[in-house]
Amino acid sequence: MQSSTPQLVWFKKDLRIHDHRPLVEAAARGPVIALYVYEDALITAADFAGRHYRFLDGCLTSLEVELRQIGGELTYGRGRLLDVMLQLWRETGFTHIWSHEETGNGISYQRDLALAEWCGQHNIAWRELPQTGVVRRLGNRDGWAGRWAERMGKAVLPPPESITWQPIEWHGHRLEMETFPTLERADGADIQKGGREAALATQDSFLRQRGAHYRKEMSSPLTAFDSCSRLSPYLTFGCLSIREAYQTAKQQRTDLYAAKANGEKIPAGWFGSLKSYLGRLRWHCHFMQKLEDEPNIEYQNFARAYDGMRESEWNEEWHQAWCAGQTGYPIIDAVMRCLQQTGWMNFRMRAMTMSFSSYHLWNHWREPSLHLARVFTDYEPGIHYSQAQMQSGVTGINTIRIYSPIKQTLDQDPEGEFIKRWVPELEGVPTDIIAEPHQMTPMEQSLFGCVIGKDYPAPIVDHATAYKSAQSRMFAMRGTSAARAEANRVQKKHGSRKPASRQWR
Ligand SMILES: Cc1cc2nc3c(=O)[nH]c(=O)nc-3n(C[C@H](O)[C@H](O)[C@H](O)COP(=O)(O)OP(=O)(O)OC[C@H]3O[C@@H](n4cnc5c(N)ncnc54)[C@H](O)[C@@H]3O)c2cc1C
Repeated sequence: MQSSTPQLVWFKKDLRIHDHRPLVEAAARGPVIALYVYEDALITAADFAGRHYRFLDGCLTSLEVELRQIGGELTYGRGRLLDVMLQLWRETGFTHIWSHEETGNGISYQRDLALAEWCGQHNIAWRELPQTGVVRRLGNRDGWAGRWAERMGKAVLPPPESITWQPIEWHGHRLEMETFPTLERADGADIQKGGREAALATQDSFLRQRGAHYRKEMSSPLTAFDSCSRLSPYLTFGCLSIREAYQTAKQQRTDLYAAKANGEKIPAGWFGSLKSYLGRLRWHCHFMQKLEDEPNIEYQNFARAYDGMRESEWNEEWHQAWCAGQTGYPIIDAVMRCLQQTGWMNFRMRAMTMSFSSYHLWNHWREPSLHLARVFTDYEPGIHYSQAQMQSGVTGINTIRIYSPIKQTLDQDPEGEFIKRWVPELEGVPTDIIAEPHQMTPMEQSLFGCVIGKDYPAPIVDHATAYKSAQSRMFAMRGTSAARAEANRVQKKHGSRKPASRQWR
C-alpha cells in the first residue's frame, strides 16, 4: 500500500534501474525522487580524473533514458551531499532515503557517517541495501564464500513497472565537465563508453564469442583486450550488477552444456574460461570486502610491520618516468602509455607494472596507486588498494612475486608487437632484443634507428641489481617476528578460507 510521503532514491555507483532494490522498495511505498549528486569532494579528489567523469556522463545519460521509460526523471544536485539533502528535504519532506551500500574511498566513508548522523537528527530513515557480495559488519571470513553464493543466487529484480514520481520545483541538470575545472577534458581518448546499453553489448559479445579463449588469452596484452570481459568499469559504476553478470554467465554455461548434449560442437576452452570468469566475479567482492572490513588500507599497509620499509627512499624522478612510460623497460613503458590512452589493462600487466614500481624502483605503493586510480576507468577502491598492496608485498600473507619485465616480454609479447604499438621509438629494433634495447651496441643503435639515451631512455634502474636487492630486503623483512605476527592477524581478518591451491595468485 503506497503512502503519499516521498521516498528518496539516492543513486551513486549503481547507475541502472535493473536489479536495483532500493528503487523497487521506494516505489512500493510512495512517490519517488531519484537523485544523483555531483559531490565536489569526490570529483576534485586525487583518485578522480576526467576519464571517470566522461564514463560517468555516459552512465547518467543512460540512466536518464531508463528512468524516463518508466515515467520518471533524474534530479541532480551539486556540492556537499548534506546541503543537497537538506534543500530537497525542506522542499519535499521526504521520510526515507533508499540507497545501495557503498564500499568507497575514505571521502565517501566519512560522508556516509555524516549522512547517518544527519538522518538521525532529522528523523529520516536511511535504508542501505547490499548490491554486491560485500557483507557489512562482518565478524570474520568464516563462511563468507557461502554467503556470497547465496546473494548471487537471489532473483535479479526487474525494474518497477509503475512508479509515482514526486514533482519537485528544484530540479538540477546533468553538468558539463567544464563545471569542474580540475578535470582534463581530453583525458583518456579511447576509454570505454559508459551506460547500460554499452554494458549489455560488452557482456553479450564476451559471453557469445570473445570469451571462448579467455583462460588462455587473458594474460597477454595482445589478446586480453578482446578475450577479457572488459566489464570492469560497468561493474564499478553499477551499470550492471555483479549478480546479473554472475547469473548471465551461469546461464550461458548451462546453454552451452545443453548445446553440447545436443551434439553441437562447442569451441574447446569455453567451459574452462567460464569457470575462470565466474571465479573472478567472486574475487571482485572478496577484495572489496577487505576495504569494507578495514577502511585504512587505502592509506596504510595491511601488515603494519612493513611500515617505514620504503617511505624514506621515495624517488620522484623515477616515479615520474614510470607514470610517463619512460623507464627504459619497453613492456613497462608500453603498458603505462597504453593505459593513458585507453584506461584499461589486463590483470597480469597491471600486476607487473605495480610490482616494478614497488620492487624495482622501491617506491611506496600509495602515490603510484593513486596514479593508476586516475588512469584506470574501472578504479574500484576495494580491489585497487588490496591489489596494489598485494603486488608490493605488504599484505604479509601473499606470496612475494617480483615480475621481471624481460621475462614478461618473452612470455606475453615475444614479437614485441604490443611494445611497438605503444613505443614507436622502438619500431626498427629487432625482436630478439626488444625486451632490452639498451643491450644494443652503438652500431646496432644507429642501424636500427634508436639511439639509447636520445631516442629512447636508458633503463632508470638495472633490472638484475634492483631485483636482487628487493628480493633480499623482502625476505629479510618477512622473516622478522613482527612480520610473522602481523601475517597471522591479517590472515585471520582478511584471508581466504579456501585451500591455498585454489586461491588466486
Ligand atoms: C594493481 C592492480 C590494481 C587493480 N585495480 C583494479 C580496479 O581499480 N578495479 C577493478 O575492477 N579491478 C582492478 N584490478 C583487477 C583486475 O586487473 C581487473 O579487474 C581486470 O583486469 C578488469 O578487466 P575485465 O573486466 O576484462 O576482467 P575479467 O578478467 O573479465 O574479470 C571479470 C571481472 O572480475 C573481477 N576481477 C577480475 N580480476 C580480478 C582480480 N584480480 N581481483 C579482483 N577482481 C577481479 C572484475 O570485476 C572484472 O571486471 C587491479 C589489479 C591490479 C594488479
